[in-house]
Amino acid sequence: MRTLIIKGGQVIDPKNGLNKTADVLIEDGSIIGVDAGVNKNGAEIIDAKGKVVCPGFIDLHCHLREPGFEYKETIATGTLAAARGGFTTVCAMPNTDPVADSRAIVDFVLAKAADQGVVRVLPIGAVTKESKGTELAELGELADAQVVGFSDDGHPVRDANIMRQALLYASSIGLPVINHCEVKSISAGGHMNEGWVATRLGLKGIPNSAEAIMVARDIELAELTGGHVHIAHASTKGTIDMVRRAKESGINVTCEVTPHHLTITDEAIMGHGHDGDPYGQLKDDAYDPNAKVSPPLRARADVEAMVSALKEGVIDLIATDHAPHGTVDKQTTFADAANGISNLETALGSLMSLVHLKNIDLEGVIEKLTVAPARLLGRDDIGSLSPGTPADVTIIDTEAEWVVETSQFASKGKNTPLAGATMRGKAETTIYNGRIVT
Ligand SMILES: [Zn+2]
Repeated sequence: MRTLIIKGGQVIDPKNGLNKTADVLIEDGSIIGVDAGVNKNGAEIIDAKGKVVCPGFIDLHCHLREPGFEYKETIATGTLAAARGGFTTVCAMPNTDPVADSRAIVDFVLAKAADQGVVRVLPIGAVTKESKGTELAELGELADAQVVGFSDDGHPVRDANIMRQALLYASSIGLPVINHCEVKSISAGGHMNEGWVATRLGLKGIPNSAEAIMVARDIELAELTGGHVHIAHASTKGTIDMVRRAKESGINVTCEVTPHHLTITDEAIMGHGHDGDPYGQLKDDAYDPNAKVSPPLRARADVEAMVSALKEGVIDLIATDHAPHGTVDKQTTFADAANGISNLETALGSLMSLVHLKNIDLEGVIEKLTVAPARLLGRDDIGSLSPGTPADVTIIDTEAEWVVETSQFASKGKNTPLAGATMRGKAETTIYNGRIVT
């Protein structure tokens, strides 16, 4: 029997209402209990004094790129990046090549994850065949293969009737449909948020309504079908207002927000350290393709709305939308660059900036990364330090200062607008199933 004791940390376990100095006892990969003064002969001890000890994070939305885009990421590198960021469970989006629209591909992902993954991988199946939006995938077959939801992420489910059918089928299976809400006829040709920054930079913008119109549609369809729609990467105040109203009327809608939509505005595309003066000099790193993401980085008012919606509870959870790319995908003009940010290794650092600014408390952040996604997944066995559950534990040094060096990333994706930034707070140790991963 292998025994591990994490000693003297500030244990934060929102599911169990714990926030106190205590020891965590782990035996044979499972949590045995959280208590003061735990001792056992022969136990391996981790000294967590001055650190925060919490359940391993769960990422409901990430792109592991395998099969098909192994030059961007693999299940091995993506799950190691996850562990470095404090995540012990990641939900893999199906926009691989081939798309995870059949049992064979989902089985492949699960087999690869069992063989090479260092944390838990939960696959998400496609809504439509090849995610082309024209014909429903075999949702029942995908559910049998253990997918945790359906999504065509990367693309919206364009056709309203297909979305309606998907919600009907998915609700009979008890799984959510996760939609990337974007009306392409509105966003088409846009490269960043529509607003004064886009005008200043001479780039075509994407208005907030490109997102909000589809959110409105999906809420109507969720009400019509009784299905569960989960809004991926909510980024606008309008989205939040609609989700709030829908929840008040009892419609089965949930939503997530990314660390970047909580912390970075579209002004980042004018370059690091820009003072936000519309007439000010652009910085050397203006037009950084690493700041190009879908949905785009939004205006200050939207970012502020995201933070207050997170505090208010309208936003259910935080997900990274980790979207690693190869350098060839990003080292091009802003217009031609791929969308996405490599996020797993900086997510906590970004969120800690909100904690240090006292915009949100650490317990709230941990809740949105642990029990909240577990609840959405309907999983009682992850997202907490409850006795008898797998010992997935993250130890956080909230004060550790570090500089984002993309060359040090475990992820193959070096694409982040945060390269070179100084962060305060990081996952120091990540334990998955009782084993120290990193
Ligand atoms: Zn998306």
